[in-house]
Amino acid sequence: MGEAKVHYNYLDKQFKIGGPLVKQILEDIEGLVKTGQFTLGPQVAEFEKEFAKICGVKYAIGINSGTDALILILRALGIGLGDEVITQPNSFIATANAIRFVGAKPVFVDVTDDYMINHLQIEKAVTSKTKAILPVHLTGNPAGIVCASEIAKRRNLFLIEDACQAIDSSVNGKMAGSWGIAGAFSLHPLKNLNVWGDGGMVTTDDGELAMKITLMRNHGLETRDDCVMVAGNCRLHTIQAVIGLRLITDVPRISSSRIMNATMYSKYLADVDGVKLPPRFANVRQVYHTFVIQVKKRDELQKFLERNGVEVKVHYPIPIHLQKPYLEMGYKKGDFPDCEKQSENIISLPIHQYLSASQIMKVINLIRKFYGAKTV
Ligand SMILES: *Cc1c(COP(=O)(O)O)cnc(C)c1O
Repeated sequence: MGEAKVHYNYLDKQFKIGGPLVKQILEDIEGLVKTGQFTLGPQVAEFEKEFAKICGVKYAIGINSGTDALILILRALGIGLGDEVITQPNSFIATANAIRFVGAKPVFVDVTDDYMINHLQIEKAVTSKTKAILPVHLTGNPAGIVCASEIAKRRNLFLIEDACQAIDSSVNGKMAGSWGIAGAFSLHPLKNLNVWGDGGMVTTDDGELAMKITLMRNHGLETRDDCVMVAGNCRLHTIQAVIGLRLITDVPRISSSRIMNATMYSKYLADVDGVKLPPRFANVRQVYHTFVIQVKKRDELQKFLERNGVEVKVHYPIPIHLQKPYLEMGYKKGDFPDCEKQSENIISLPIHQYLSASQIMKVINLIRKFYGAKTV
């Protein structure tokens, strides 16, 4: 069994293994420093164009984070005080916080076995105050968007995608970020496509919405001196666009490495009693931002793997509705039993694009050993 530690994160690998790309980025940054165009330099528009292309949409607008991308979408759609937005409680906290931040109320519904919003419960949660459905492509799997999209159309609600984990994923050949009125993406250092700091993107096919969000990210300024609406400063930094422009060329390779790693896990863990793999659908391209399995004796397995040099994580151990600001809203334990049960059984295995096949096999064999299956 290989002795080298298997790390969950990969940022240091980008510098070593992604060497040539990193060298180009450093040269590009040198070029940027010479021009001094640190805010809304031409590279922002270039990066937006490439991003829109990958997502199959007309417009992409560079924002300073995935969280602000969500906030600007909600605000631009006029969602605020007194409005309700239906979403899922098993996401990263930012999804629900964005809804709260604009003054609206997140209305949670429980989740399916594959971590999607449970479409059977969406319709029951719709009230006269509901303005939008906001599904999350958790783990990089956008499968839940099909039913959510159908309900949103039928009930005349906005469909907003939290696609922060899902660049380059698709259902029925239609890309994440192109299903809803708008999609929010994160370029956080740990996302599949990262920059070297914070960054985000809004995608949309709606020209009017694109225009509004473009104004909203920059003080509502139509020209240097003319302000047409009240807004803040949510611009994507030029330096991050410079980095994104290089790293976006790597997205197909990043996705296929992660898919290959997931395929290995699925092949060699399928027969292990005590391990439940994420489902795979022929019509869905999952990009495995995380590879989440459900296991018996989760905490013991986590300790066993860590002891043997394999770093694992839990995304996320505390459901959003059980976090302090949401308990204060009146949510309580027992409200979403499927989500709560999953939070006790889920574990995220290392899946990143710089792992070798032997590292994946090391993880597989440790898990097999833990559950008493013979090693492969
Ligand atoms: C990362 C993430 C966000 C927030 O993105 P930031 O760029 O970190 O602000 C929102 N939702 C989900 C599902 C995420 O994974």
